[in-house]
Parts: sequence; structure tokens; C-alpha cells
Amino acid sequence: MAVESAVERLFNFSAGPAAIPLCVLQQAQKELLSMPGCGASVMEISHRSSQFGEVMAKAEQRLRRLLGVPENYRVLFMQGGSRLQFSMVPMNLMGEGLVANYLLTGAWGKNALSEAVKAGATKVVWDGAATNYDRLPAPADVSLDANASYLYLTSNETIQGVQFQEDLDWGDVPVVCDMSSDFLSRPVDVSRYGLIFACAQKNAGLAGLTVVIIRDDLLQRSKDALPGYLNYRLHVDANSLWNTPPTFGIYLFGLIAKWLEEEIGGLSAMLSRNRDQAKRLYDVVDASDGFYQGHAQPDCRSLMNVTFRLPNDDLQSQFLSEAAEHHLDALKGHRSVGGIRASIYNAMADAGVDVLRQFMNEFRDRHANR
Ligand code: PMP
Repeated sequence: MAVESAVERLFNFSAGPAAIPLCVLQQAQKELLSMPGCGASVMEISHRSSQFGEVMAKAEQRLRRLLGVPENYRVLFMQGGSRLQFSMVPMNLMGEGLVANYLLTGAWGKNALSEAVKAGATKVVWDGAATNYDRLPAPADVSLDANASYLYLTSNETIQGVQFQEDLDWGDVPVVCDMSSDFLSRPVDVSRYGLIFACAQKNAGLAGLTVVIIRDDLLQRSKDALPGYLNYRLHVDANSLWNTPPTFGIYLFGLIAKWLEEEIGGLSAMLSRNRDQAKRLYDVVDASDGFYQGHAQPDCRSLMNVTFRLPNDDLQSQFLSEAAEHHLDALKGHRSVGGIRASIYNAMADAGVDVLRQFMNEFRDRHANR
């Protein structure tokens, strides 16, 4: 069975940290001892050097081009992962007499809420718990508070595998979106959001880097009394150099953005590849006569995390161990949901999906109705 290349690499379906495009790893490997024109590794030079300044500026320019980030939005390269954003968002954006509105569409929205309640007034405006987070609301199903400080949502729930595939119109309230697990997987209308954040370890490179895109006017909400690192305004004023940023992660992010622009051809092209790969897996689920049962309702299915179950736990374990023999790695679902989760982020090669498809069909043929 073919693996990704002559180098021994598995088909990696990890939910994150996740696969990185092979050509990006190869370029990083080539430049590891000395970045061109630098005479040292990017890891060994000052974050204030002109060479690193160029790396970061280029990474930001590519991100702005890929997503069409409007002029009145600032880009931050931060640390602390998305979990830190669960705290920073409420600490910066809540306001006197205002209520933060939360949409709970899965585990990560719930985790975000559990931090927000420590910072001030919150209200859950929609909660998918009754159907075990298998669906999403439309704006018409949600009534927002008149005095909402912001509406918080998670574009792709990594554990349940439900995804808002469009930038919906939620009205005038600033929308804060956790895009951790579908960042750069499709074009986004950034102007529909007040703040977007994403940890990088799924579609954008290394754990340790978090990208934040924030609309200018929201920066006025950050109070001077906040601890320094937790204040968005300080990071914006210092152009992401308030403290030492995750330099290698920013470098790698720049290489991934370059790959998206120059090899893939932009986010519309990325989206069509992602749609195609996801469809090919969901088609197997749907044609399996119930042997594979998808978790998400069909109209809410994630293009990034394909979640499904088998008829029983024994078959599930057997599926995982046989998959490993086909070099199909990290398919075990999250412990809180169980089942199988195939994470097919941007870097997943078509060949990986083909091998998984074939394996799923063969496995079902051997085990259905026995
Ligand atoms: N939000 C989502 C949607 C995620 O998938 C994750 C990580 N799996 C997080 C937040 C948490 O990210 P981190 O571990 O970087 O804090």
C-alpha cells in the first residue's frame, strides 16, 4: 500500500497537531540550519531583527491576501493556544451592563463558555445538547440579547464534526468566531466577524502559535487594568512584538500560506479539494446501509472532521487496528464522543482519502450482517 512518499510517512488523520504539507516540511528542513541570507536558523535570531521582521510581515501579507482581510482589521500572532482566547475574549470584550451571548454547538463552545462565566455576564442563546451536538442553528432560530456585548460561536466543532460552512448574518452584534479547526480551509467574509481566532496546529502549522484577527473599533474595549499579555491593544500597538512571539511557528505559518497561495491556488481551490475529499468519505458512510453511522446531521457535516460510529465497540477496535495495517493513522474518535474521527485538514492528500475509502468499503463488506 502506498504511503505519502518514499519517506516513511503515514496517512495522518490526527485532529491536531495535524499533518503539515510535505513540501513545507521539506523547505523548513532545508532552511533549518541557515535561512537564506541569514546565516542562522530562524529559531536563533532576534524577533526584532530585520530578517525576522520580513518573515512576519510576509506571513501577515499572505494571510491578508488569502482571506481578504479588510484594512480595518489587525492581525496578531500570539501564544497560549485557543484556550487562552477563551479567556482573553471575555476579558477584553465584555462590557458594563452587557451580556456575552454564546452559541453552544459542541465541546469547544462549552469550554469557551466555562471561561467566560468567570469574567462576567453570559447567556447561552442556543445549545445543541438535547441532540448530542449533531446539528447547528440558523440565525432565525436564535434570539440575541438587545444588549449583547458579542455573539460567540465555533465555526467547526472538532470533536462532534459539525461545521458552519458559511458566514451567516447574525445582525449588528460583533461576532467572535473560534475558527481553530477550519481556519484557511475556505474563503471567509472577514467583515462579518468582529474577532476571529485560530490555534495553528490543525491547518496552519505548529502548536504554540495562535492567530487573532480583530476589528479596530473593538480594541477600545480593552481596559488598561488587564494583565499585559491578556490585553489585545498592547499586542496590536507592538505589532505582535509585545513579548517574544512564537518565531518558528510564524515562519512555518508563512510557508503554509505560501503553499496555499502558490501550490493550491488560494482558498476557493482549497475549499473545492476539501469538499471533494469530505464528500468521498461521507458517500461511503451513506452507502453503507447503516453499518457506518455519521454523527452529524447531513446538512451540518464538517468538511474537516468526519465523525462516525460502527455497530459495536469490538468492530470499532478491529477497524482501528486493521486501519493501522494500511498506514491509516489516528482515526480514533475523541474520548468524549467515541467512534471514529477522520480529520482531513488541508494537508491531507487525495491518496489518503482514497486508501481510507477503500479500506472502509472492504471492512464493511467483510463485517456487515455477521
Ligand atoms: N477550539 C477548537 C475548535 C479546537 O479544536 C481546539 C483544539 N482541539 C481548541 C479550541 C483548543 O486549542 P488549544 O489546545 O490550542 O488551546
